[in-house]
Amino acid sequence: MDPVGQIRMHKDQGRTIIACFPLYPPLALLHSMGLVPIVLWGLKGHVSRTEAADPHLPAYTCSVARHLAEFLLTDARELIDGIFMYNACDTLRNMPEILADEMRSPGRNVGFFRMHLPMTNRDKAGAAEYFENEIKALVRDLSRHFGVRFSPERFQASVSLYQRMQRLAIDAMDRVAAGILAFSDFERVMQAGAFLSVEDHIQAIAALPAFGEGRRVRRPPSEDSSIGVMISGILPPPASMIAAVESAGLRIVADDVASLYRSYAVMPDPRPDPGEYYRIFYDDHYPCPTLLYTGDRRISAFLSRFAQSSARGVIFFGEKFCEYEYFEFPFLKKKLAEKGIPVLEIDVSIDGGRHMAAHDSRIAAFAEMLRQ
Ligand code: SF4
Repeated sequence: MDPVGQIRMHKDQGRTIIACFPLYPPLALLHSMGLVPIVLWGLKGHVSRTEAADPHLPAYTCSVARHLAEFLLTDARELIDGIFMYNACDTLRNMPEILADEMRSPGRNVGFFRMHLPMTNRDKAGAAEYFENEIKALVRDLSRHFGVRFSPERFQASVSLYQRMQRLAIDAMDRVAAGILAFSDFERVMQAGAFLSVEDHIQAIAALPAFGEGRRVRRPPSEDSSIGVMISGILPPPASMIAAVESAGLRIVADDVASLYRSYAVMPDPRPDPGEYYRIFYDDHYPCPTLLYTGDRRISAFLSRFAQSSARGVIFFGEKFCEYEYFEFPFLKKKLAEKGIPVLEIDVSIDGGRHMAAHDSRIAAFAEMLRQ
């Protein structure tokens, strides 16, 4: 997947592109208003330098933020019609001001749209009402800027499309766990979805070989001596790390990755009012440390995902300098240790995946320990 080439294809078809971050934007709402939302997460491997971003972001900022700033300030600069963002970590909170300032240029009118997601429990007085107003304001701002109208019917149809994508993704991951589909193929098509229209993403998942012929990439689980592991992190591991996991005799059978399972695990049924829909969407969202109010549900969701899989250990691929992940890891590891679940933690830096020797040995040692 070439993100720039893909965005150009949308533009050639006369589509309006809205770039979004962080990971859980109201995609169906944007889609229902005739826009093509793309999610700027997972640009690692596509952005090789960060020269345009570097003057604005220190070297101890995560690769996600550095890559998305670089992408918007260089390759995607002339292709993007709007930018949507909501509040997450401190790194991203500073981004709107930097981007708005840097992207201002004569003759260009890139729309900036912001939504504030309260990080308190929705039962707190006023939080639900406040958030529903944020969605109303977003609809109003999008309508004004792009000259588009909101339609409850189109919104519900868009939600149904995203639900179709979700069901296919869950089905595909089940096939990975059953050894019918390679995790690398699944991960590639899911990451590509960030730059595809939802219609094209549905087709791309459905075109995976596992859906056509039931081609088995491994021996059936009963004859397979590889050991199942669950992976977690903000991003999936780079291809070289997936290869290291597999060559150590491990098999990824479940994930708790923010740009994979956490993104699509829960999608409420369509309803005509987008304020009500997104209140439920964010309230019931699969827990993620970037959604602070889901913290109380995080451990039980993680343990239940693990228990429902055939995994025997967990590998964290931590995005270096991600404040949320690194606050969460110690507690999560303690809770897993109490249950006797072995854990390996690997830091993935901005050039992660290129220097593999140390990681190879740690993954091999972890596999050896699980085998015993
Ligand atoms: S990886 Fe972590 S620190 Fe970086 S943008 Fe995402 S949540 Fe923020």
